[in-house]
Amino acid sequence: MNQPEWWLLFFVAIVIGYIMGRRDGRRRRVRREENLSRDYIRGLNYFLNEQPDKAIEIFVKSLAVSEHTLETHLALARVFRRRGELDRATLIHSNLLEHPQLPVAARDDVQLELAQDFLAAGMLDRAEEILHKLLDRGSRHDLAVMRLLLSVFEQERDWHSAISVAEKLMQKDKSVAPVLAQYHCELAERLLAQEEANAGRRALRRALQLDSTCVRASLLQGKLEMAEEQWEGAVRALRRIRRQDPVFFDEVLDDLERCYQELGRVEQFTQYLGRLCVEAPSTAIVIKLAERLRAQFGDQAAALFISDHVKAHPTVRGLKQIIDMQARAAHSGTDDPPSVLKQLADQLLQQKTSYQCRDCGFEALRRHWQCPSCKHWGTLKPHPHREI
Ligand SMILES: [Zn+2]
Repeated sequence: MNQPEWWLLFFVAIVIGYIMGRRDGRRRRVRREENLSRDYIRGLNYFLNEQPDKAIEIFVKSLAVSEHTLETHLALARVFRRRGELDRATLIHSNLLEHPQLPVAARDDVQLELAQDFLAAGMLDRAEEILHKLLDRGSRHDLAVMRLLLSVFEQERDWHSAISVAEKLMQKDKSVAPVLAQYHCELAERLLAQEEANAGRRALRRALQLDSTCVRASLLQGKLEMAEEQWEGAVRALRRIRRQDPVFFDEVLDDLERCYQELGRVEQFTQYLGRLCVEAPSTAIVIKLAERLRAQFGDQAAALFISDHVKAHPTVRGLKQIIDMQARAAHSGTDDPPSVLKQLADQLLQQKTSYQCRDCGFEALRRHWQCPSCKHWGTLKPHPHREI
C-alpha cells in the first residue's frame, strides 16, 4: 500500500478508537488510551519496519468492532481489494463476521463485501453462494446483490441464469434492458451454433423488444436468415442496422450485396447505395458504390465518381481506391508511379485500430460485444477514424 493511504487509515482508525474510548468510564478510558497508544506504537513500528501484515493484525485487533468503527474496517478492506491484495481483504471481512460484537444490521454489509472479494479473486462459486443467500433473505442491498450475481453469471457464461436475474432486476431498474438484450443475443448465438434456429429466432426477437437499437440482434438475425436463404428477411435485418447505429453499417455491406444478388435485384442495391452516399456517406459505402458502378458502367465511371467524392471528403481509404483504379487504368503503360502512394495508403490502413470502447478507451482489432477491460456491454465501436 502506498504511504498516504496507510497513514490516513491508520490515523482514522486510532482517532475513532480514541473517541470510542472516551465514551467509556474514566477508568476504562485511561486503560483504553494506554492500550491504544501501546498498539499504536507497535503498529507504527511494524509499519516502519515494512511489515504491513503485522501492522494490519495490530490494527484489526486494536480497533473495536462496533457500528461506529465498522466503516473504517470496511474502508481498509476496500483499499486492499482495489490493490488486488484479496487475502487481506477477505481476512478482515471474515474476522468481522466472526466477531461477537458485530451489529446484526451490519452483517449483510460485510457479507456483500466478502462476496466482492471472492468475485475479484475469481472464486465464483463462493461469491455466488453468499449472494444467493443474501437475495433469498432479502435486504436493502437487493439491487447491488443482483448486479453482482450478473457479473458472476457473465464470467460463468451461464446465460439462462443471467437472464433470469436480469429480468427480476429490470422490475426495479429499467436501465438493465440493453444488457439483458445482450444476454439474449449470447443465448441466441449458442442456439444457432446448435442449429436450433427457431429458439434462436425467439431469443433475437426478445433482444430487439428489450432494446430496439441492439445492432448485435440485427446482425445475428441477418446471418440466420441468410443461412436459411430467407433473403428478404436478411435484407430487412441488415438494413435496420443503419438506423440502429450507422457506425456498424459498413460491416454488413458485403452481406447485403450478396442478399440483393440472390434476389436478382442488384440494381436496387446500387440505387440504395447512391441514396446513402447523399444522405450519410461513409468510406465503405462510397467504395462499395464505386465497385457497383465499375461492374455496371466500367472503370472510368467509377474513377470519376470516386475522385469527385474524395475531393469533397479526403480519406485514406478513398485515396487507396483512386490509386488502385489509376493503377488499373495505367496497366497498359508503366505500372511504377502509383506504387509508392499505394504502399503509403496500405500502411496507413494497416495502422488503424478497428474498435475502441467509448467508455474506457480500450482498443481491439476484433469486435467484442462486452468490453474486455471495463466489462460494459455494447460500448466497443468501430474506430471513428474509419468514418468519413
Ligand atoms: Zn471499456
